[in-house]
Amino acid sequence: MPPIPRLVIATHNAGKLREMGELLAPYGIETVSAGALGLPEPEETGTSFVANALIKAEAAARAADLPALADDSGLCVDGLDGDPGIYSARWAGESKDFGAAMARIATLLDQKGVAPEARRGHFVAALALVWPDGRRETVEGKVFGRIVPPRGSLGFGYDPLFLPDNHDLTFGEMASEAKHGIPADGSEALSHRARAFQALARRCFG
Ligand code: IMP
Repeated sequence: MPPIPRLVIATHNAGKLREMGELLAPYGIETVSAGALGLPEPEETGTSFVANALIKAEAAARAADLPALADDSGLCVDGLDGDPGIYSARWAGESKDFGAAMARIATLLDQKGVAPEARRGHFVAALALVWPDGRRETVEGKVFGRIVPPRGSLGFGYDPLFLPDNHDLTFGEMASEAKHGIPADGSEALSHRARAFQALARRCFG
């Protein structure tokens, strides 16, 4: 694997750019965002998290002639055929109303007769790293847990309704470091995104 001195983060989201930049800094990788390079945002037409991450990374690598990293993530609920899944952001609508999206999940589970203690789901994060010559690496990270009545105001998106297995706090009640941090001792991180990053780092930056 050749060294990667400079990498495009294929996102127009400032939060994702900051998080990725911080994760990559220890590996001596400088990052620049697709937004800063004025690259267009491709439409996410894939039917899986990996496919959508690849669409974004391939478009950026080609346009910038640099290696590019993209992610795609979402919440899959058991009993709803994995919905909202790749449509997680879209379920919240233009107004990004995740309160309404979480209420919709609860209503649908009620309608399907899934008992509160039986409600389960998982977050998924896919990462795609694509080189301008077409080489590509993809990884996925997952975290499993219970779907509970929303608790906590930390984090974002569906965090308040997700209680990770073997924990007492929902993602909405957890500090960012506890959720997204990469343990220095090499043990497994908690969040789907951090787990995907650990897998990518082992494969590509180790
Ligand atoms: P993306 O920007 O297309 O990856 O959108 C992912 C969507 O999935 C976000 O808008 C959130 O709704 C949801 N999501 C992904 N990861 C998380 C998480 O860690 N916590 C809460 N919601 C998440």
